[in-house]
Amino acid sequence: MSIVIDDKPKEECAVVGVYNHPRAANFTYLGLYSLQHRGQESSGIVSNDNRTFYKHINMGLVADVFSDANNLEKLKGNMAIGHNRYSTTGTAKLINAQPLVVSSKYGPMAISHNGNLINARFLREKLEDEGAIFQTTTDTEIILHLIARSRKTTLIEKIIDSLDQIEGAFSLAILTRDKLVAVRDSRGFRPLCIGKKDGGYIVASESCALDILNAKYIREVKPGEVVVFDKDGMTSYWLNHKVDICCCIFEYIYFSRPDSRIFGEKVDKARRTLGKVLAQEAPVEADRIISVPDSSNTAALGYAQESDIRFEIGLIRNHYIGRTFIHPEQSMRDFNVRIKFNPVKGVLKNKRIVIVEDSIVRGTTLRHLVSMVRNAGAKEIHIRVSSPPIKFPCYYGMDFPTREELIASSMTIEKIRKYLEVDSLHYLSLEGLLNSVPHENCGYCTACFSGEYPIIPAQRVKKYHLENGIVND
Ligand code: SF4
Repeated sequence: MSIVIDDKPKEECAVVGVYNHPRAANFTYLGLYSLQHRGQESSGIVSNDNRTFYKHINMGLVADVFSDANNLEKLKGNMAIGHNRYSTTGTAKLINAQPLVVSSKYGPMAISHNGNLINARFLREKLEDEGAIFQTTTDTEIILHLIARSRKTTLIEKIIDSLDQIEGAFSLAILTRDKLVAVRDSRGFRPLCIGKKDGGYIVASESCALDILNAKYIREVKPGEVVVFDKDGMTSYWLNHKVDICCCIFEYIYFSRPDSRIFGEKVDKARRTLGKVLAQEAPVEADRIISVPDSSNTAALGYAQESDIRFEIGLIRNHYIGRTFIHPEQSMRDFNVRIKFNPVKGVLKNKRIVIVEDSIVRGTTLRHLVSMVRNAGAKEIHIRVSSPPIKFPCYYGMDFPTREELIASSMTIEKIRKYLEVDSLHYLSLEGLLNSVPHENCGYCTACFSGEYPIIPAQRVKKYHLENGIVND
């Protein structure tokens, strides 16, 4: 029996693209490797030598998918795109793994997508009614069908025409026979940045993928921007949606790596500020601050710095467990958590402990961790959460559990405190969260905390259409 050993929202996906470099596939591989945290179900690369497309895609982690060096060597050419997937739509099967590749009358094309399309169901039904046959159950394939059917003249016009029809979150890398195209939806939900190395260009979900290549960070792809890399260099076009920018604020809290730079800010800096503001909002008399490694480390450091209480490593995380683990002993209490975390008794014994956690989803893992810390001898345990309570699901590419499973959607903070069996519990306020992140040229989606969705969620669209007399034709 395999067990799930995490109680965190699951990341969406990672995209990487390389244009005009003889080591395009190798660079894409390294970029994907550094973005493994954004998706662990499947990985793939498609390359192109201006004539033929080559691909290698499989289920599993990047290092496993490309463990045979031959798989990389056969990916010829100086252009490539890659993808790490965690399925938010479509099932976790090889058929749905990306990059998706198609042939069209304009030549072969491949696409990597990070995000989630809100109107995918309606577009898919419409396309199927018109005779389209889908190969996968992903929302990404819809984009390829729309491009192939567009009546516009040039390929770039067709891409823009297609993307103007879709709603939702999409950061894309598209490979054609002679171009790499990078796109971010007009709200800019997911990050996407551009780098340069040896005269070639690299696009990636996060800047840590540029660092591993020693590439120079140039800038982000702007919300609504379509950046084309071809023999003429780098050219910008724009989608026609004029909407408010809503970058996913959860990227700062948990999803992105702290050594990345997204939405114009270093994640480490933003995450430390979350911890500092949390300490100002919810101070506590304590002896030690510890984090739930690794995602809460930076916020815990910010909390410790602001509160002048010593930060210690109080929980050790085992990094070498796969996504699922064969449960050898189901009767062992708390086994799921103990296989992943172990307390450092010398740090915790007879101490008043603050545990900083970045977010609470169901609360099950944290409850076990609290019991572990208590059994290790902690006198008091105070939880400080560097985000507001998560009460609503995400429709833009993050896989949260259903609303019923989100602990904060059905329990008050006091009830959650009792459930966790801690001495105190405080969450960062929404105001504190918004004050911790930069606002220059950037607005934020906070829907999982506030319920204020920037686009009507797919589940509600049908009701909205009925109420507003909208018919799909
Ligand atoms: Fe990000 Fe939450 Fe908005 Fe989803 S709902 S895009 S996780 S802020």
